[in-house]
Amino acid sequence: MIPYGRQDVSEADIQAVVDVLRSDFLTQGPAVPAFEKAVASYCGAQHAVAVNSATGALHIACLALGVGPGDWVWTSPITFVASANCALYCGAQVDFVDIDPRTYNLSVERLAEKLAQAEQADRLPKVVIPVHLCGQSCDMAGIHALAQRYGFKIIEDASHAIGGRYRGEPIGNSRYSDITVFSFHPVKIITTAEGGMALTNDAELAKRMARLRTHGITRDVAEMTHAPDGPWYYQQIDLGYNYRMTDLQAALGVSQMQRLDEFVIKRHTIAQRYDELLADLPLVTPWQHPDSYSGLHLYVIRLKLAEIRKSHCEVFEALRAEGVGVNLHYIPVYRQPYYERLDFKAGHCPEAERYYAEAISLPMYPGLTDRQQDQVVSALRAVVVQ
Ligand SMILES: *Cc1c(COP(=O)(O)O)cnc(C)c1O
Repeated sequence: MIPYGRQDVSEADIQAVVDVLRSDFLTQGPAVPAFEKAVASYCGAQHAVAVNSATGALHIACLALGVGPGDWVWTSPITFVASANCALYCGAQVDFVDIDPRTYNLSVERLAEKLAQAEQADRLPKVVIPVHLCGQSCDMAGIHALAQRYGFKIIEDASHAIGGRYRGEPIGNSRYSDITVFSFHPVKIITTAEGGMALTNDAELAKRMARLRTHGITRDVAEMTHAPDGPWYYQQIDLGYNYRMTDLQAALGVSQMQRLDEFVIKRHTIAQRYDELLADLPLVTPWQHPDSYSGLHLYVIRLKLAEIRKSHCEVFEALRAEGVGVNLHYIPVYRQPYYERLDFKAGHCPEAERYYAEAISLPMYPGLTDRQQDQVVSALRAVVVQ
């Protein structure tokens, strides 16, 4: 089966991890700050906090921004559940803003309408979490302008998007947001096996997140309520977690960062080849906004079902039967049983539901060969053209 996504691990990556295994520190050593520095300087952000996953990063990002009971957090329905769950972890309530029909990202028009209504009802969100689906940036300038007007904070869920750019600048520089989050799960653009990072230009937010990833504990005298009792001393300031990244993971991350640009270029080559090979088929290939240089984590097509004699599910099954490991990103989050119990109903975000009825993620990763890609395209052609 050709998978939809796959890590690319080199001998140098393996050696970097082995070197840590032979060193003094498996965790809380020098590799984590080195990885944070590498990502922060690549992105042009002032602070970076490495954690065990993007899910952990989203959670401490919400906490650092003060999200708690009584607050609302809004995100896109077309995302992984973690983008919404992070608000529920904090005791806040979640709502969803429908997507743009071309980028499939949270729609700024729908956001503006929903904010105007929420203002009337005195239910404005504390935080909005735009998700850069497939690696393509949301309209961050538009969202930022609304944040200025309505007073909410912004966490970019850039789990798909490291290595991408928005208006010529690296995603992650947090120019239009308070915090940006990356994921380093193996299917994402670079990997640390499990891992995530939160970037910010706000020193206070960075400090809070660094404490929250390790039990809310500080060893910095400046953050303590009184002078240390002695050289052993530390203080727990907040109720934090163990969300630390290990040095094994961080060393892999540092090594992977050296090939980030190469990975994204390869993804663009593959996408361009798909665009050409699929041009005559009854489907919609990914549209790219001129402001965006996508990380291209995913290559999502939409079936023109009126021109195809099979159903979405039949196309999906036929491709899997041909050894093409297609996937679907994503089921609208509020259609999950857990969210339906929170009283979300079908029809809440019609554009997202139309997307869900037609979308398929084709295999997309740097190691995908032309031959494998040809296999994907001919399997797809055979099933959608009769
Ligand atoms: C993968 C992903 C996450 C969660 O990442 P983990 O590192 O696995 O916790 C969150 N949001 C989006 C959009 C993702 O794709």
